[in-house]
Amino acid sequence: MLYSNTSKNLSERDKKHLWHPLTQHKLHPEMLGIVKAKGCILFDENGKEYIDGISSWYTSMYGHCNDFIIDKVYYQMRQLDQVVFSGFTHEPAVKLSEELIKILPVNQEKLFLSDNGSTATEIGIKMALQYHHNRGKKRHVLLAFEEGFHGDTFGAMSVSGLSVYNGAFKDFFIDVERIPVPTDKNAHEIVDFLRNRLEKGDVAGFIYEPLVQGAAAMKMHNASHLNNILKIIKEEDVLLIADEVMTGFGKTGKHFASDYIETKPDIICLSKALTAGMVPMAITSCSIKVYNAFYSNDISKGLFHGHTYTANPLACSAALAGLELLQTEEIQGNIQEIVKWHQEFNEEIKHHPKVASTRQIGIIYALDLNVKMKRYGNLRDKLFKHFMDNGVFLRPLGNTIYILAPYVITKEQMQKIYNSIKSILNII
Ligand SMILES: *Cc1c(COP(=O)(O)O)cnc(C)c1O
Repeated sequence: MLYSNTSKNLSERDKKHLWHPLTQHKLHPEMLGIVKAKGCILFDENGKEYIDGISSWYTSMYGHCNDFIIDKVYYQMRQLDQVVFSGFTHEPAVKLSEELIKILPVNQEKLFLSDNGSTATEIGIKMALQYHHNRGKKRHVLLAFEEGFHGDTFGAMSVSGLSVYNGAFKDFFIDVERIPVPTDKNAHEIVDFLRNRLEKGDVAGFIYEPLVQGAAAMKMHNASHLNNILKIIKEEDVLLIADEVMTGFGKTGKHFASDYIETKPDIICLSKALTAGMVPMAITSCSIKVYNAFYSNDISKGLFHGHTYTANPLACSAALAGLELLQTEEIQGNIQEIVKWHQEFNEEIKHHPKVASTRQIGIIYALDLNVKMKRYGNLRDKLFKHFMDNGVFLRPLGNTIYILAPYVITKEQMQKIYNSIKSILNII
């Protein structure tokens, strides 16, 4: 036997050496062993099936273990597995750059590759700070939305809203000022505030999740309010960093959330669905204006950032396969279908006394329950368990339940998710 100890279950063996992300192990010691996934279904070690209603954190949008993607990655595995990307290049990276640039907002010209969403935003932040530094300007402040989430590395943590995630590190953050997300009520105030604040000339960049703030429980804001803010900020040569790690690749109904907004970002951060959930990778794209501030005979003006696995050929080939699928009529048609199903479901439940509010953009649907509860409290755990018992994997955030299912979900599977939500409304 290659592996010893396989008679004990995964959950039990896990406890001995593994430390899980975003987990207080004393309060949540149990991990569920997953042995297999196909399409929209996860299979646990006891043979129970779950519909993956959140696409394993918004990654597996074309379904798990998608044969089309597997074939492309397998071909690449036999061709070229890994090579240094400093001084070398290869077909999957070149082809990916050509294909991705075609669908990114028109001002995006250059792509910097890395490994995960946090590094994508970290690099975006470094680009913005060094952009001004290279041009001889002293700009050290970053602007961000109050409830944003941009990842768990230091720069990314600094620009994220304060929470249990990053509270322990707040004395070590880079300089950040947070502004509220615009609503009909405060949009004018924010604009006035920014006009004054930006005069000082010390702001380097503004990082934002366009239209949907994922970790803030799928909070949504309006494109025209956001556009007004972006316009003012951009006029002051503050770089706009759109964190589309969650929103990218079709989830909002367009390829990118920035496609809804007239003022285009200088920098865009991508990951999660980029590689269709097959292998980790991220990209920070930028306009030629940004790139040119680094392009120099002076070596120290270069962007000296890099990761060992940058542009891993397998990851690039998975991303290429994902991009190809995204642009098929089939997937685009599925997206339109899911949008309609959510609208119909919304009509059904929006007036339920246990539903405080609902919202939707593209295939992202969220509802707030009319109950008070803590983000990490018992009721949240009860909801989670109810869904899992019903064979549905949803991960409520506080009193928000949201659906972000793969584009390949069937109507029957989606109905099962809807039914599990309806049943919870009647027992809480
Ligand atoms: C998930 C996420 C990140 C962080 O990505 P990781 O790959 O988990 O490091 C950053 N920004 C947004 C908007 C995200 O949703």
